[in-house]
Amino acid sequence: MKKFSEIVYSRPNLEAYSAELKKDIEAFKASDTLELQRQLFLKISRDSKKNGSAHSFVEVKYSQNSKDAFFEDEKKYFDNEMPKLSPVFKEFGIACLNAKFRKELEAEFGKQFFDLTELQNKIVSEEVVPLLQKENELSAEYQKLKSEIKIDFDGKMRNLSGMSPLMESTDREYRKAASKAMYTEMIKVQPELDRIYDELVKVRTELAHKLGYENFVQMGYDRMGRTCYNAQDITKYRGFVAKYVTPKVAILKDKIAKLQGLDTMYHYDSLLFKDGNATPKTSPEQMIADAQVMYNELSHETGVFFKQMIDLEVMDLLNRENKSPGGYCTYIDEIKSPFIFSNFNGTSHDVDVLTHEAGHAFQCYCSTHFELGEYLFPTSESAEIHSMSMEFFAWNWVDKFFLQDTEKYKLGHLLKSLFFLPYGVSVDEFQQNVFENPSISAEKRRAMWNKVSDTYSPWIKVDNEPFLENGGRWQLQAHIYQMPFYYIDYTLAQLCAFQFYKKMNEDFDKAWKDYHRLCKQGGSMNFLELLEVANLSSPFDEKGFAETIDFIFNEINRLFDEYNKELAAN
Ligand SMILES: [Zn+2]
Repeated sequence: MKKFSEIVYSRPNLEAYSAELKKDIEAFKASDTLELQRQLFLKISRDSKKNGSAHSFVEVKYSQNSKDAFFEDEKKYFDNEMPKLSPVFKEFGIACLNAKFRKELEAEFGKQFFDLTELQNKIVSEEVVPLLQKENELSAEYQKLKSEIKIDFDGKMRNLSGMSPLMESTDREYRKAASKAMYTEMIKVQPELDRIYDELVKVRTELAHKLGYENFVQMGYDRMGRTCYNAQDITKYRGFVAKYVTPKVAILKDKIAKLQGLDTMYHYDSLLFKDGNATPKTSPEQMIADAQVMYNELSHETGVFFKQMIDLEVMDLLNRENKSPGGYCTYIDEIKSPFIFSNFNGTSHDVDVLTHEAGHAFQCYCSTHFELGEYLFPTSESAEIHSMSMEFFAWNWVDKFFLQDTEKYKLGHLLKSLFFLPYGVSVDEFQQNVFENPSISAEKRRAMWNKVSDTYSPWIKVDNEPFLENGGRWQLQAHIYQMPFYYIDYTLAQLCAFQFYKKMNEDFDKAWKDYHRLCKQGGSMNFLELLEVANLSSPFDEKGFAETIDFIFNEINRLFDEYNKELAAN
Protein backbone atom coordinates (compact mmCIF):
# COMPACT_ATOMS: atom_id res chain seq x y z
CA MET A 1 0.00 0.00 0.00
CA LYS A 2 1.14 3.51 -0.77
CA LYS A 3 2.44 5.48 2.24
CA PHE A 4 1.71 9.11 2.98
CA SER A 5 5.34 9.99 2.16
CA GLU A 6 5.02 8.33 -1.25
CA ILE A 7 2.17 10.56 -2.42
CA VAL A 8 3.33 12.55 -5.42
CA TYR A 9 1.53 15.86 -5.40
CA SER A 10 0.69 17.90 -8.45
CA ARG A 11 -1.72 20.81 -8.42
CA PRO A 12 -5.10 19.86 -9.88
CA ASN A 13 -6.41 22.24 -12.53
CA LEU A 14 -9.61 23.34 -10.82
CA GLU A 15 -10.72 25.48 -13.74
CA ALA A 16 -10.61 22.50 -16.08
CA TYR A 17 -12.27 20.42 -13.38
CA SER A 18 -15.09 22.94 -13.07
CA ALA A 19 -15.66 22.92 -16.84
CA GLU A 20 -15.75 19.11 -16.92
CA LEU A 21 -18.07 18.99 -13.93
CA LYS A 22 -20.52 21.32 -15.67
CA LYS A 23 -20.47 19.08 -18.74
CA ASP A 24 -21.04 16.00 -16.60
CA ILE A 25 -23.96 17.67 -14.83
CA GLU A 26 -25.60 18.48 -18.17
CA ALA A 27 -25.12 14.89 -19.29
CA PHE A 28 -26.45 13.66 -15.94
CA LYS A 29 -29.60 15.73 -16.39
CA ALA A 30 -30.08 14.51 -19.96
CA SER A 31 -29.47 10.80 -19.19
CA ASP A 32 -32.36 8.73 -20.41
CA THR A 33 -31.23 5.40 -19.03
CA LEU A 34 -30.62 4.49 -15.39
CA GLU A 35 -27.20 3.03 -16.20
CA LEU A 36 -26.00 6.26 -17.82
CA GLN A 37 -27.28 8.43 -14.98
CA ARG A 38 -25.76 6.07 -12.41
CA GLN A 39 -22.37 6.08 -14.14
CA LEU A 40 -22.30 9.90 -14.23
CA PHE A 41 -23.39 10.09 -10.58
CA LEU A 42 -20.43 7.85 -9.68
CA LYS A 43 -17.99 9.71 -11.93
CA ILE A 44 -18.89 13.07 -10.38
CA SER A 45 -18.49 11.57 -6.92
CA ARG A 46 -15.12 9.99 -7.79
CA ASP A 47 -13.73 13.19 -9.31
CA SER A 48 -14.83 15.19 -6.30
CA LYS A 49 -13.10 12.70 -3.98
CA LYS A 50 -9.92 12.97 -6.07
CA ASN A 51 -9.82 16.76 -5.76
CA GLY A 52 -10.76 16.49 -2.10
CA SER A 53 -7.78 14.18 -1.64
CA ALA A 54 -5.33 16.71 -3.10
CA HIS A 55 -6.91 19.46 -1.01
CA SER A 56 -6.65 17.44 2.24
CA PHE A 57 -3.05 16.52 1.41
CA VAL A 58 -2.16 20.22 1.03
CA GLU A 59 -3.90 21.09 4.31
CA VAL A 60 -2.00 18.35 6.15
CA LYS A 61 1.38 19.28 4.66
CA TYR A 62 0.86 22.94 5.51
CA SER A 63 -0.19 22.21 9.09
CA GLN A 64 2.88 19.97 9.48
CA ASN A 65 5.12 22.89 8.58
CA SER A 66 3.67 26.36 8.39
CA LYS A 67 7.02 27.65 7.05
CA ASP A 68 6.75 25.52 3.91
CA ALA A 69 6.42 28.14 1.15
CA PHE A 70 5.41 25.60 -1.53
CA PHE A 71 2.41 24.25 0.37
CA GLU A 72 1.51 27.72 1.57
CA ASP A 73 1.04 28.66 -2.09
CA GLU A 74 -0.90 25.49 -2.78
CA LYS A 75 -3.17 26.21 0.17
CA LYS A 76 -3.81 29.71 -1.15
CA TYR A 77 -4.71 28.24 -4.52
CA PHE A 78 -7.35 25.98 -2.96
CA ASP A 79 -8.63 28.74 -0.66
CA ASN A 80 -9.21 30.97 -3.68
CA GLU A 81 -10.54 28.42 -6.13
CA MET A 82 -12.73 26.14 -4.01
CA PRO A 83 -15.48 28.71 -3.24
CA LYS A 84 -15.95 29.18 -6.99
CA LEU A 85 -16.98 25.55 -7.24
CA SER A 86 -19.78 25.81 -4.74
CA PRO A 87 -22.45 27.11 -7.18
CA VAL A 88 -21.55 24.26 -9.54
CA PHE A 89 -22.03 21.74 -6.75
CA LYS A 90 -25.31 23.38 -5.89
CA GLU A 91 -26.38 22.79 -9.46
CA PHE A 92 -25.42 19.13 -9.16
CA GLY A 93 -27.45 18.97 -5.94
CA ILE A 94 -30.54 20.31 -7.70
CA ALA A 95 -29.97 17.92 -10.58
CA CYS A 96 -29.83 15.00 -8.11
CA LEU A 97 -33.05 16.04 -6.38
CA ASN A 98 -34.81 16.25 -9.75
CA ALA A 99 -33.07 13.27 -11.31
CA LYS A 100 -35.15 11.12 -13.59
CA PHE A 101 -33.94 7.98 -11.79
CA ARG A 102 -33.81 9.47 -8.28
CA LYS A 103 -35.85 6.62 -6.84
CA GLU A 104 -33.42 4.04 -8.20
CA LEU A 105 -30.35 6.06 -7.15
CA GLU A 106 -31.82 6.44 -3.67
CA ALA A 107 -32.41 2.72 -3.45
CA GLU A 108 -28.78 1.98 -4.32
CA PHE A 109 -26.91 4.83 -2.56
CA GLY A 110 -29.26 5.55 0.34
CA LYS A 111 -31.69 8.31 1.20
CA GLN A 112 -29.23 10.19 3.41
CA PHE A 113 -27.33 11.72 0.48
CA PHE A 114 -30.55 13.16 -0.94
CA ASP A 115 -31.80 14.38 2.46
CA LEU A 116 -28.50 16.19 3.08
CA THR A 117 -28.56 17.64 -0.44
CA GLU A 118 -32.04 19.00 0.18
CA LEU A 119 -30.87 20.85 3.31
CA GLN A 120 -27.73 22.04 1.55
CA ASN A 121 -29.86 23.58 -1.19
CA LYS A 122 -31.96 25.47 1.32
CA ILE A 123 -28.94 27.22 2.85
CA VAL A 124 -26.87 28.06 -0.24
CA SER A 125 -27.83 30.81 -2.67
CA GLU A 126 -25.85 33.19 -4.85
CA GLU A 127 -27.77 36.07 -3.27
CA VAL A 128 -26.42 35.50 0.26
CA VAL A 129 -22.74 35.09 -0.63
CA PRO A 130 -21.82 38.61 0.62
CA LEU A 131 -23.53 37.85 3.96
CA LEU A 132 -21.63 34.57 4.26
CA GLN A 133 -18.39 36.43 3.62
CA LYS A 134 -19.30 38.95 6.30
CA GLU A 135 -20.04 36.09 8.69
CA ASN A 136 -16.61 34.55 7.99
CA GLU A 137 -14.90 37.88 8.54
CA LEU A 138 -16.57 38.35 11.92
CA SER A 139 -15.73 34.81 12.93
CA ALA A 140 -12.07 35.41 11.99
CA GLU A 141 -12.13 38.70 13.88
CA TYR A 142 -13.25 36.88 17.03
CA GLN A 143 -10.49 34.31 16.64
CA LYS A 144 -7.87 37.00 16.14
CA LEU A 145 -9.08 39.06 19.09
CA LYS A 146 -9.00 36.01 21.34
CA SER A 147 -5.58 34.84 20.18
CA GLU A 148 -4.11 38.29 20.81
CA ILE A 149 -5.15 38.43 24.45
CA LYS A 150 -1.97 38.37 26.53
CA ILE A 151 -1.98 37.75 30.26
CA ASP A 152 0.99 38.80 32.35
CA PHE A 153 1.01 36.22 35.12
CA ASP A 154 3.61 34.64 37.39
CA GLY A 155 6.50 36.26 35.56
CA LYS A 156 5.40 35.19 32.08
CA MET A 157 3.26 36.53 29.24
CA ARG A 158 0.66 33.88 28.37
CA ASN A 159 -2.21 33.46 25.93
CA LEU A 160 -5.64 32.07 26.89
CA SER A 161 -4.79 28.44 26.19
CA GLY A 162 -1.63 28.82 28.24
CA MET A 163 -3.82 29.79 31.20
CA SER A 164 -6.01 26.68 31.30
CA PRO A 165 -3.44 24.29 32.86
CA LEU A 166 -2.99 26.85 35.68
CA MET A 167 -6.68 26.46 36.56
CA GLU A 168 -5.86 22.88 37.54
CA SER A 169 -3.20 23.94 40.04
CA THR A 170 -3.49 22.29 43.46
CA ASP A 171 -2.71 25.64 45.11
CA ARG A 172 -6.02 27.46 45.54
CA GLU A 173 -4.52 30.93 45.97
CA TYR A 174 -2.55 30.40 42.76
CA ARG A 175 -5.70 29.36 40.85
CA LYS A 176 -7.55 32.37 42.22
CA ALA A 177 -4.79 34.76 41.17
CA ALA A 178 -4.50 33.16 37.71
CA SER A 179 -8.24 33.45 37.21
CA LYS A 180 -8.17 37.09 38.35
CA ALA A 181 -5.38 37.89 35.89
CA MET A 182 -7.25 36.27 33.02
CA TYR A 183 -10.64 37.89 33.62
CA THR A 184 -9.01 41.29 34.15
CA GLU A 185 -7.84 41.06 30.53
CA MET A 186 -11.15 39.61 29.33
CA ILE A 187 -13.22 42.49 30.64
CA LYS A 188 -11.04 44.94 28.73
CA VAL A 189 -12.08 43.34 25.43
CA GLN A 190 -15.70 42.69 26.42
CA PRO A 191 -17.06 45.67 24.42
CA GLU A 192 -15.37 44.21 21.32
CA LEU A 193 -16.67 40.71 22.09
CA ASP A 194 -20.16 42.17 22.47
CA ARG A 195 -19.91 44.10 19.21
CA ILE A 196 -18.65 41.14 17.17
CA TYR A 197 -21.40 38.87 18.47
CA ASP A 198 -24.03 41.53 17.97
CA GLU A 199 -23.02 41.83 14.32
CA LEU A 200 -22.94 38.05 13.94
CA VAL A 201 -26.47 37.76 15.29
CA LYS A 202 -27.66 40.44 12.86
CA VAL A 203 -25.89 38.89 9.87
CA ARG A 204 -27.20 35.40 10.65
CA THR A 205 -30.72 36.71 11.16
CA GLU A 206 -30.58 38.53 7.82
CA LEU A 207 -29.24 35.38 6.16
CA ALA A 208 -32.14 33.39 7.57
CA HIS A 209 -34.72 35.96 6.44
CA LYS A 210 -33.25 36.14 2.92
CA LEU A 211 -33.45 32.36 2.63
CA GLY A 212 -37.06 32.30 3.80
CA TYR A 213 -36.63 31.24 7.44
CA GLU A 214 -38.49 32.87 10.33
CA ASN A 215 -35.23 33.22 12.30
CA PHE A 216 -31.77 31.64 12.38
CA VAL A 217 -32.72 28.69 14.62
CA GLN A 218 -34.00 26.34 11.91
CA MET A 219 -31.35 27.55 9.51
CA GLY A 220 -28.68 26.66 12.07
CA TYR A 221 -30.19 23.17 12.36
CA ASP A 222 -30.22 22.77 8.58
CA ARG A 223 -26.59 23.81 8.37
CA MET A 224 -25.72 21.06 10.82
CA GLY A 225 -27.40 18.55 8.49
CA ARG A 226 -30.06 17.57 11.03
CA THR A 227 -32.63 15.61 9.10
CA CYS A 228 -34.29 13.67 11.91
CA TYR A 229 -34.85 15.99 14.90
CA ASN A 230 -35.74 19.62 15.47
CA ALA A 231 -35.62 22.41 18.05
CA GLN A 232 -38.67 21.01 19.88
CA ASP A 233 -36.91 17.68 20.39
CA ILE A 234 -33.84 19.48 21.70
CA THR A 235 -35.92 21.63 24.06
CA LYS A 236 -37.41 18.48 25.55
CA TYR A 237 -33.98 16.88 25.78
CA ARG A 238 -32.51 19.86 27.63
CA GLY A 239 -35.37 19.40 30.08
CA PHE A 240 -34.11 15.84 30.77
CA VAL A 241 -30.69 17.26 31.61
CA ALA A 242 -32.24 19.72 34.08
CA LYS A 243 -34.36 16.94 35.61
CA TYR A 244 -31.90 14.03 35.80
CA VAL A 245 -28.36 15.42 35.51
CA THR A 246 -28.33 18.75 37.32
CA PRO A 247 -29.37 17.37 40.75
CA LYS A 248 -26.78 14.58 40.52
CA VAL A 249 -23.97 16.92 39.53
CA ALA A 250 -24.94 19.15 42.48
CA ILE A 251 -24.50 16.15 44.82
CA LEU A 252 -21.12 15.28 43.29
CA LYS A 253 -19.90 18.89 43.43
CA ASP A 254 -20.73 18.87 47.14
CA LYS A 255 -18.83 15.65 47.63
CA ILE A 256 -15.75 17.04 45.85
CA ALA A 257 -15.90 20.24 47.91
CA LYS A 258 -15.98 18.22 51.14
CA LEU A 259 -13.07 16.03 50.04
CA GLN A 260 -11.04 19.16 49.33
CA GLY A 261 -12.11 20.78 52.58
CA LEU A 262 -13.82 23.72 50.83
CA ASP A 263 -16.90 25.40 52.34
CA THR A 264 -17.79 27.12 49.08
CA MET A 265 -16.63 26.15 45.60
CA TYR A 266 -15.96 29.27 43.57
CA HIS A 267 -15.56 29.66 39.82
CA TYR A 268 -11.81 28.92 40.13
CA ASP A 269 -12.38 25.64 41.98
CA SER A 270 -12.83 23.23 39.09
CA LEU A 271 -10.03 20.94 40.30
CA LEU A 272 -11.40 17.41 40.77
CA PHE A 273 -8.80 16.05 43.19
CA LYS A 274 -7.05 17.83 46.01
CA ASP A 275 -3.68 16.36 45.00
CA GLY A 276 -4.17 17.15 41.30
CA ASN A 277 -5.79 15.53 38.26
CA ALA A 278 -4.36 12.37 36.62
CA THR A 279 -1.42 12.75 34.21
CA PRO A 280 0.26 10.20 31.89
CA LYS A 281 3.47 8.75 33.27
CA THR A 282 5.35 7.51 30.20
CA SER A 283 7.11 9.08 27.19
CA PRO A 284 5.17 9.90 24.00
CA GLU A 285 7.06 7.18 22.08
CA GLN A 286 6.16 4.62 24.74
CA MET A 287 2.53 5.76 24.65
CA ILE A 288 2.29 5.11 20.91
CA ALA A 289 3.88 1.66 21.35
CA ASP A 290 1.44 0.89 24.18
CA ALA A 291 -1.47 2.07 22.03
CA GLN A 292 -0.53 -0.55 19.42
CA VAL A 293 -0.65 -3.27 22.12
CA MET A 294 -3.97 -1.89 23.33
CA TYR A 295 -5.55 -1.93 19.86
CA ASN A 296 -4.17 -5.44 19.17
CA GLU A 297 -5.85 -6.73 22.30
CA LEU A 298 -9.10 -4.78 21.91
CA SER A 299 -10.07 -6.53 18.64
CA HIS A 300 -8.60 -8.00 15.50
CA GLU A 301 -9.88 -5.09 13.38
CA THR A 302 -8.47 -2.34 15.63
CA GLY A 303 -5.09 -4.12 15.65
CA VAL A 304 -4.97 -4.15 11.85
CA PHE A 305 -6.21 -0.55 11.76
CA PHE A 306 -3.59 0.85 14.12
CA LYS A 307 -0.75 -1.06 12.45
CA GLN A 308 -1.86 0.42 9.14
CA MET A 309 -1.90 3.93 10.66
CA ILE A 310 1.75 3.40 11.64
CA ASP A 311 2.79 1.68 8.39
CA LEU A 312 1.22 4.35 6.16
CA GLU A 313 2.79 7.11 8.31
CA VAL A 314 -0.57 8.81 8.82
CA MET A 315 -0.13 9.92 12.43
CA ASP A 316 1.82 13.07 13.19
CA LEU A 317 1.47 13.36 16.95
CA LEU A 318 4.56 14.85 18.56
CA ASN A 319 5.09 18.54 19.16
CA ARG A 320 7.56 20.12 16.73
CA GLU A 321 8.66 23.59 15.73
CA ASN A 322 6.54 25.23 12.99
CA LYS A 323 3.69 22.76 13.39
CA SER A 324 0.19 24.29 13.53
CA PRO A 325 -1.47 24.13 16.96
CA GLY A 326 -4.43 21.86 17.71
CA GLY A 327 -5.42 18.46 16.41
CA TYR A 328 -7.73 16.87 13.84
CA CYS A 329 -8.59 13.71 11.92
CA THR A 330 -9.00 13.98 8.15
CA TYR A 331 -9.18 11.58 5.17
CA ILE A 332 -6.81 11.19 2.20
CA ASP A 333 -8.52 9.36 -0.61
CA GLU A 334 -5.35 8.69 -2.62
CA ILE A 335 -4.13 6.26 0.05
CA LYS A 336 -7.67 5.42 1.27
CA SER A 337 -6.71 6.30 4.82
CA PRO A 338 -7.55 8.68 7.65
CA PHE A 339 -4.80 10.96 8.97
CA ILE A 340 -4.41 12.05 12.62
CA PHE A 341 -2.65 15.30 13.48
CA SER A 342 -1.90 16.52 17.00
CA ASN A 343 0.60 18.17 19.33
CA PHE A 344 1.38 16.05 22.40
CA ASN A 345 1.84 18.21 25.51
CA GLY A 346 2.40 15.78 28.41
CA THR A 347 -1.13 16.01 29.86
CA SER A 348 -3.99 13.48 29.71
CA HIS A 349 -4.86 15.18 26.41
CA ASP A 350 -2.19 12.97 24.77
CA VAL A 351 -4.07 9.84 25.79
CA ASP A 352 -7.28 11.41 24.43
CA VAL A 353 -5.60 11.78 21.03
CA LEU A 354 -4.74 8.07 21.05
CA THR A 355 -8.30 7.14 21.99
CA HIS A 356 -10.67 9.97 20.91
CA GLU A 357 -9.03 10.95 17.59
CA ALA A 358 -8.25 7.28 16.92
CA GLY A 359 -11.98 6.61 17.39
CA HIS A 360 -12.77 9.09 14.61
CA ALA A 361 -10.02 7.57 12.46
CA PHE A 362 -11.23 4.00 13.08
CA GLN A 363 -14.76 4.92 11.99
CA CYS A 364 -13.39 6.57 8.83
CA TYR A 365 -11.16 3.52 8.18
CA CYS A 366 -14.27 1.31 8.47
CA SER A 367 -16.20 3.54 6.04
CA THR A 368 -13.74 3.75 3.12
CA HIS A 369 -15.86 1.16 1.29
CA PHE A 370 -18.46 3.85 0.50
CA GLU A 371 -18.36 5.26 -3.01
CA LEU A 372 -19.84 8.58 -1.90
CA GLY A 373 -17.44 10.95 -0.16
CA GLU A 374 -20.43 12.26 1.82
CA TYR A 375 -20.59 8.97 3.73
CA LEU A 376 -16.97 8.88 4.98
CA PHE A 377 -17.93 10.74 8.18
CA PRO A 378 -21.43 11.15 9.62
CA THR A 379 -23.01 14.38 10.92
CA SER A 380 -21.25 15.60 14.04
CA GLU A 381 -23.57 14.33 16.81
CA SER A 382 -23.04 10.85 15.36
CA ALA A 383 -19.32 11.31 14.64
CA GLU A 384 -18.59 12.11 18.28
CA ILE A 385 -20.15 8.79 19.36
CA HIS A 386 -17.24 6.88 17.79
CA SER A 387 -14.60 9.03 19.43
CA MET A 388 -16.16 9.37 22.89
CA SER A 389 -17.02 5.66 23.03
CA MET A 390 -13.49 4.65 22.01
CA GLU A 391 -12.29 6.61 25.06
CA PHE A 392 -14.31 4.13 27.16
CA PHE A 393 -13.35 1.01 25.18
CA ALA A 394 -9.74 1.92 26.03
CA TRP A 395 -10.37 1.76 29.80
CA ASN A 396 -9.07 -1.79 30.20
CA TRP A 397 -5.67 -0.63 28.98
CA VAL A 398 -5.29 2.92 30.31
CA ASP A 399 -3.19 1.67 33.23
CA LYS A 400 -0.35 1.45 30.67
CA PHE A 401 -0.47 5.25 30.36
CA PHE A 402 -1.47 6.35 33.86
CA LEU A 403 0.17 3.71 36.12
CA GLN A 404 -0.57 4.72 39.75
CA ASP A 405 -3.02 7.41 38.53
CA THR A 406 -5.29 4.93 36.73
CA GLU A 407 -8.21 4.92 39.17
CA LYS A 408 -8.05 8.67 39.43
CA TYR A 409 -8.08 8.96 35.64
CA LYS A 410 -11.17 6.76 35.31
CA LEU A 411 -13.10 8.59 38.01
CA GLY A 412 -12.03 11.95 36.58
CA HIS A 413 -13.06 10.85 33.07
CA LEU A 414 -16.61 9.98 34.17
CA LEU A 415 -16.91 13.08 36.34
CA LYS A 416 -15.81 15.44 33.57
CA SER A 417 -18.13 13.74 31.08
CA LEU A 418 -21.16 14.09 33.37
CA PHE A 419 -20.27 17.64 34.46
CA PHE A 420 -20.08 18.64 30.83
CA LEU A 421 -23.79 18.02 30.13
CA PRO A 422 -25.32 20.97 32.07
CA TYR A 423 -22.80 23.36 30.54
CA GLY A 424 -23.29 21.89 27.06
CA VAL A 425 -27.06 22.35 27.09
CA SER A 426 -26.70 25.88 28.54
CA VAL A 427 -24.63 26.87 25.52
CA ASP A 428 -27.38 25.54 23.28
CA GLU A 429 -30.36 27.08 25.09
CA PHE A 430 -28.59 30.42 25.22
CA GLN A 431 -28.12 30.40 21.45
CA GLN A 432 -31.73 29.50 20.81
CA ASN A 433 -32.82 32.41 23.05
CA VAL A 434 -30.44 34.74 21.25
CA PHE A 435 -31.69 33.93 17.76
CA GLU A 436 -35.33 34.03 18.82
CA ASN A 437 -34.68 37.55 20.22
CA PRO A 438 -32.10 38.93 17.79
CA SER A 439 -32.55 42.62 18.57
CA ILE A 440 -31.97 42.75 22.34
CA SER A 441 -28.98 44.64 23.75
CA ALA A 442 -25.64 43.07 24.63
CA GLU A 443 -26.30 43.65 28.36
CA LYS A 444 -29.64 41.88 28.18
CA ARG A 445 -28.04 39.05 26.22
CA ARG A 446 -25.40 38.54 28.89
CA ALA A 447 -28.08 38.61 31.59
CA MET A 448 -29.84 35.91 29.59
CA TRP A 449 -26.72 33.72 29.82
CA ASN A 450 -26.69 34.01 33.62
CA LYS A 451 -30.32 32.98 33.79
CA VAL A 452 -29.80 29.90 31.61
CA SER A 453 -26.63 28.95 33.45
CA ASP A 454 -28.42 29.22 36.83
CA THR A 455 -31.07 26.80 35.61
CA TYR A 456 -28.64 24.04 34.65
CA SER A 457 -25.64 24.78 36.90
CA PRO A 458 -27.01 26.42 40.08
CA TRP A 459 -23.81 25.48 41.98
CA ILE A 460 -21.63 28.02 40.16
CA LYS A 461 -20.56 30.71 42.67
CA VAL A 462 -18.67 33.72 41.41
CA ASP A 463 -16.15 35.29 43.79
CA ASN A 464 -16.03 38.98 42.95
CA GLU A 465 -15.37 38.73 39.19
CA PRO A 466 -17.17 41.40 37.11
CA PHE A 467 -16.67 39.61 33.76
CA LEU A 468 -18.58 36.57 35.08
CA GLU A 469 -21.05 38.55 37.18
CA ASN A 470 -22.17 40.49 34.12
CA GLY A 471 -22.75 37.24 32.18
CA GLY A 472 -19.61 37.07 30.01
CA ARG A 473 -18.70 33.39 30.52
CA TRP A 474 -20.05 32.27 27.11
CA GLN A 475 -17.78 34.74 25.32
CA LEU A 476 -14.90 32.30 25.83
CA GLN A 477 -16.81 29.57 23.97
CA ALA A 478 -15.64 29.74 20.36
CA HIS A 479 -18.47 27.57 19.01
CA ILE A 480 -21.03 30.26 19.89
CA TYR A 481 -19.24 32.69 17.60
CA GLN A 482 -17.94 30.32 14.97
CA MET A 483 -20.19 27.25 14.76
CA PRO A 484 -23.69 28.14 15.92
CA PHE A 485 -25.77 25.26 17.33
CA TYR A 486 -22.88 22.79 17.06
CA TYR A 487 -22.35 22.45 20.78
CA ILE A 488 -25.37 20.28 21.68
CA ASP A 489 -23.88 17.55 19.47
CA TYR A 490 -21.19 16.77 22.04
CA THR A 491 -23.83 16.21 24.69
CA LEU A 492 -25.99 13.96 22.47
CA ALA A 493 -22.94 11.87 21.60
CA GLN A 494 -21.94 11.73 25.27
CA LEU A 495 -25.29 10.14 26.15
CA CYS A 496 -24.59 7.49 23.50
CA ALA A 497 -21.01 6.92 24.69
CA PHE A 498 -22.38 6.46 28.24
CA GLN A 499 -24.66 3.73 26.87
CA PHE A 500 -21.66 2.00 25.29
CA TYR A 501 -19.91 2.23 28.66
CA LYS A 502 -22.91 0.55 30.28
CA LYS A 503 -23.04 -2.14 27.59
CA MET A 504 -19.34 -2.94 27.89
CA ASN A 505 -19.79 -3.48 31.60
CA GLU A 506 -22.57 -5.97 30.85
CA ASP A 507 -21.07 -7.76 27.83
CA PHE A 508 -17.87 -6.36 26.37
CA ASP A 509 -17.86 -8.43 23.16
CA LYS A 510 -21.44 -7.57 22.35
CA ALA A 511 -20.77 -3.88 22.98
CA TRP A 512 -17.77 -4.02 20.66
CA LYS A 513 -19.77 -5.72 17.90
CA ASP A 514 -22.44 -3.01 18.14
CA TYR A 515 -19.74 -0.34 17.95
CA HIS A 516 -17.97 -1.89 14.99
CA ARG A 517 -21.26 -2.24 13.11
CA LEU A 518 -21.95 1.44 13.75
CA CYS A 519 -18.49 2.44 12.45
CA LYS A 520 -19.06 0.55 9.20
CA GLN A 521 -22.22 2.56 8.50
CA GLY A 522 -20.19 5.81 8.42
CA GLY A 523 -22.42 8.70 7.40
CA SER A 524 -24.79 6.69 5.24
CA MET A 525 -27.70 7.19 7.66
CA ASN A 526 -29.08 9.90 9.90
CA PHE A 527 -28.50 10.05 13.68
CA LEU A 528 -31.62 8.17 14.77
CA GLU A 529 -31.09 5.43 12.17
CA LEU A 530 -27.48 5.01 13.26
CA LEU A 531 -28.63 4.62 16.86
CA GLU A 532 -30.82 1.72 15.76
CA VAL A 533 -27.90 0.08 13.97
CA ALA A 534 -25.90 0.28 17.21
CA ASN A 535 -28.76 -0.85 19.49
CA LEU A 536 -28.63 2.46 21.35
CA SER A 537 -31.62 4.26 22.78
CA SER A 538 -32.30 7.79 21.57
CA PRO A 539 -31.28 10.63 23.93
CA PHE A 540 -34.76 12.01 23.19
CA ASP A 541 -36.30 9.01 24.98
CA GLU A 542 -36.84 9.97 28.61
CA LYS A 543 -36.78 6.47 30.09
CA GLY A 544 -33.53 5.51 28.36
CA PHE A 545 -31.99 8.86 29.28
CA ALA A 546 -32.83 8.46 32.98
CA GLU A 547 -31.54 4.86 33.09
CA THR A 548 -28.25 5.78 31.46
CA ILE A 549 -27.62 8.69 33.82
CA ASP A 550 -28.53 6.56 36.85
CA PHE A 551 -26.02 3.94 35.79
CA ILE A 552 -23.24 6.50 35.31
CA PHE A 553 -24.03 8.16 38.64
CA ASN A 554 -23.78 4.79 40.43
CA GLU A 555 -20.52 4.04 38.64
CA ILE A 556 -19.09 7.37 39.77
CA ASN A 557 -20.04 6.61 43.37
CA ARG A 558 -18.50 3.14 43.10
CA LEU A 559 -15.25 4.60 41.73
CA PHE A 560 -15.29 7.27 44.43
CA ASP A 561 -15.46 4.56 47.11
CA GLU A 562 -12.52 2.72 45.53
CA TYR A 563 -10.54 5.91 45.21
CA ASN A 564 -11.18 6.84 48.85
CA LYS A 565 -10.12 3.35 49.96
CA GLU A 566 -6.90 3.79 48.00
CA LEU A 567 -6.34 7.20 49.60
CA ALA A 568 -6.91 5.78 53.08
CA ALA A 569 -4.49 2.89 52.43
CA ASN A 570 -1.65 5.18 51.34
ZN1 LIG B 1 -14.14 14.55 18.29
